[in-house]
Amino acid sequence: MSDDRPIPENLVRRTPLPTSVSRPVVTPIMPSVVYASDCPDELDAQYEGRVKGFTYAREGHPNAEVLAQKIDALEGAEGGLILGSGMAAVTAALMGCLKAGDHVLGGDQLYGRSLRLMGTDLPRFGIATSLADPTDAAAFARAIRPETRMVLVELVSNPTLRVADIPGIAAICKERGVLLAVDSTFSTPRAFRPFEHGADIVIHSVTKLLAGHSDVTLGYVAAKDPALRKAIYDFAVTTGLTPSPFDCWLAERGLMTFHLRYDRAEENAKALADHLAGLPGVRRVLYPLRADHPDHNRASGLLGARGGNMLSFEVEGGRAGANALTRAMRDLPFAPTLGDIATILSHSASSSHRALSHEARAALGISEGFFRISVGVEDIGLLKRDFAAGVAAARAAAG
Ligand SMILES: *Cc1c(COP(=O)(O)O)cnc(C)c1O
Repeated sequence: MSDDRPIPENLVRRTPLPTSVSRPVVTPIMPSVVYASDCPDELDAQYEGRVKGFTYAREGHPNAEVLAQKIDALEGAEGGLILGSGMAAVTAALMGCLKAGDHVLGGDQLYGRSLRLMGTDLPRFGIATSLADPTDAAAFARAIRPETRMVLVELVSNPTLRVADIPGIAAICKERGVLLAVDSTFSTPRAFRPFEHGADIVIHSVTKLLAGHSDVTLGYVAAKDPALRKAIYDFAVTTGLTPSPFDCWLAERGLMTFHLRYDRAEENAKALADHLAGLPGVRRVLYPLRADHPDHNRASGLLGARGGNMLSFEVEGGRAGANALTRAMRDLPFAPTLGDIATILSHSASSSHRALSHEARAALGISEGFFRISVGVEDIGLLKRDFAAGVAAARAAAG
């Protein structure tokens, strides 16, 4: 009878790892939700911060910490936190630091879900919000109220790639005692380090360029002031914005090539912007370092030669032209994201900005023929050929 067969002792009890004088070269993935301690005294010591130890994965785990330390090094930050998404990072930064009665002022071209958090969710908790144009520091100054506690801006906006006057805004924030939070997803620490320009909080969607392969959803938030850091951490742990160890591991692997991918993608973006500008059927090209960009001077001042991998352009032919362009470029993913190793094309009117009225989109300069490109690391010759074919198809459809 099978009942007679003893169950080996080590079957259900966890086995210690085999001994080895050598170590793994690659960071191990540690999915453990809990960490065992020797005794209650040791657990006390851990909770009281006298010794370092993990306890429960929602409160922190090794893969998140390894990743956080690498992004900290890139940003010149300390004690950054990895969370389950870029939006988790935005939410923790705002809700961890603000209280009912506070006001938060945002840039008027923030990421769509950040706008929704500000416009719909924060007001439900008694936090007032408003928006102003971050390319105009004087307009920003006028929008600050006595109860303004925080400003949230992005340096490079989506999808028109306007460049915010962060030094101007930082000076106003300092003078008025307002916290400055910068969502630096588009510019990345390769181009711009917000802490060097007066930011108090830096936020990233690690999902995008930092991880770089469109296979993880993660966020990062760091604060200069340890008290804010703790407030953000406690909010994130309480609300469970925890990242998965496997995602952190994938992102660590992606991050190792971030600088190489970024440099190559940026070089491609510069060349592709100039190529597009020379194609018949292209109405305009938006790239921060081009002389015809509305914020060209500020972009050069703040970014130097680091124009980034994002560019936008507009073709003739309205929606019919846009449909013809994406159909003619089937090898290139038409999808609403950015920062992938490969080039990705997105159409703001049907995705990120679809909730806006036609007039509101027109005011931002987003027509049916407006596309955003997240340029990848492909051979530039291939990209030039693909886009020449796409633009020609749009032009033909325009008639
Ligand atoms: C994508 C993005 C976010 C949100 O990040 P997720 O990882 O998708 O939650 C926030 N801000 C900016 C600027 C983004 O591009």
